[in-house]
Amino acid sequence: MSEIAKLAPSYIRSIAPYVGGKPISDLAREMGLDPTQIVKLASNENPLGVSPNAHMAMMDAVDDIARYPDGNSVELRQAVSEKFKVAPEQLVFGNGSNDILELAARAFLAPADEAVYSQHAFAVYSLVTQAVGAKGVVVPAKDFGHDLNAMSAAITPKTRVVFVANPNNPTGTLLGKADLKAFIAKVPQHTLVVLDEAYDEYLSDADKAESIDWLSEFDNLIISRTFSKAYGLAGLRVGFGLTSASIADLMNRVRQPFNVNSIAQAAAVASLADEEFVERTRALNNAGMVQITQGLKDLGLDYIPSFANFVSFKVADAAGVNQRLLAQGIIVRPIANYEMPEYLRVSIGLFSENAKFLAALKSALSK
Ligand SMILES: *Cc1c(COP(=O)(O)O)cnc(C)c1O
Repeated sequence: MSEIAKLAPSYIRSIAPYVGGKPISDLAREMGLDPTQIVKLASNENPLGVSPNAHMAMMDAVDDIARYPDGNSVELRQAVSEKFKVAPEQLVFGNGSNDILELAARAFLAPADEAVYSQHAFAVYSLVTQAVGAKGVVVPAKDFGHDLNAMSAAITPKTRVVFVANPNNPTGTLLGKADLKAFIAKVPQHTLVVLDEAYDEYLSDADKAESIDWLSEFDNLIISRTFSKAYGLAGLRVGFGLTSASIADLMNRVRQPFNVNSIAQAAAVASLADEEFVERTRALNNAGMVQITQGLKDLGLDYIPSFANFVSFKVADAAGVNQRLLAQGIIVRPIANYEMPEYLRVSIGLFSENAKFLAALKSALSK
């Protein structure tokens, strides 16, 4: 490490880099494979791509790319405000919802403050906590899901933020609505609840928490949503937070003035209007989830029942199986860095992609 690098704060030097899904181009290069034959089921992306409306809006927006974007995302703000029935001042837009998670951390966490989150929860919670020098308090999971009672008990006078992923990634676990609401009601006023609902669109109406209705009751709640998953805009980077006007105001002060690019704003507006696309996405996901979980059962593998667009399954030699899948052009996600060394996470793809994955897995297991 160079002399100057050694002078970075120790909490920065000790951050473990985020490990994403392997890009198709990397695997093609490493294994000499035809990229068009590679199946990537590693980053919970939408196998249907994007709504045709969003595609058209993006092409139109390209013509204006020499201009700075609208720093207040006014049109997108209006569209989200109408769709979710919240005031425009209650919204914060981000460069992906990861940006929202980071803005919450930067607005509320100082060194020596604490943030509480669950074991096996989304890796970005610890990243954004450490980046501001705050202390991450990891609460042991219960049946791979969040143990809300233990999380409540972990909140101290120093806790400024508690992160809750519902459904959680990489476990796919879902909290009961009543339990979640009771938990939020118990969180003290000096602690912000960041409720990450990146996969909300995949839930059935019966399973949805309808948490946006809770904003009127709890002024220490931030809900984060994304266009990266069901809306198929992962590469554009756009997400948003719904909260109280005063929290939104603070988060807006720490965000970069042009954090959401103009193509993303245009695509997000158009994709919000295409409910049919989201409906098709959900239907495909439901069918693919049945296909993959049945295939896992047929192979005699255990998996964690999932409410999202991926499922994590257990294989004794996860690293070896992963290597043998890669050799066959199948990319899934090893999750050893989530303290789940015996699990692999597979995203639900198209019918044909799921079938290729299952065939490759069968072969990878028999070696
Ligand atoms: C994928 C995912 C997100 C979305 O991140 P973006 O920055 O919006 O792409 C957020 N939270 C969780 C738990 C996720 O799995």
